[in-house]
Amino acid sequence: MAEEPCQCSDCQRFYKEHDRLIREFPTFKQQQELNWASIQSFRTLCSKVTNELQRELSERESNNHISQEEKNIFVEDLNEALDELESVNAYLYSVEALMERIFDTKISENIESKFKEIAKELAPDPLNVDRLILNRLFHQTPDFPNNKNIN
Ligand SMILES: [Zn+2]
Repeated sequence: MAEEPCQCSDCQRFYKEHDRLIREFPTFKQQQELNWASIQSFRTLCSKVTNELQRELSERESNNHISQEEKNIFVEDLNEALDELESVNAYLYSVEALMERIFDTKISENIESKFKEIAKELAPDPLNVDRLILNRLFHQTPDFPNNKNIN
């Protein structure tokens, strides 16, 4: 028996977002651009924050108006965060290098229509009339296991 996909709220949010990205970016080219923009924005934000934290760290270290104890606590926290952010930045940089390879691939119009066709099957528009009717029928079925008969 196939295992049911997890239905916790985090996973449901993920499925919804996953389908939305297929529905709104149904071609190979659109997926390339979307993923490139997403990796770049993540990288820009992370490296800006890293730079800002480094600046604050050196400012704090040279500040003589706060006690050494206060300094140590702040510096320790900040160094920890900086270490983590720096490794994230390194991973993002590697992902970007791999994404560049994906960008080298060009797809013909014929194959792009296949992408669009499969995208429609994978992630149909939830506001599509046929689907709304189908959902309504589904939820009205009395023996549907999640229907607790509460009116
Ligand atoms: Zn889950």
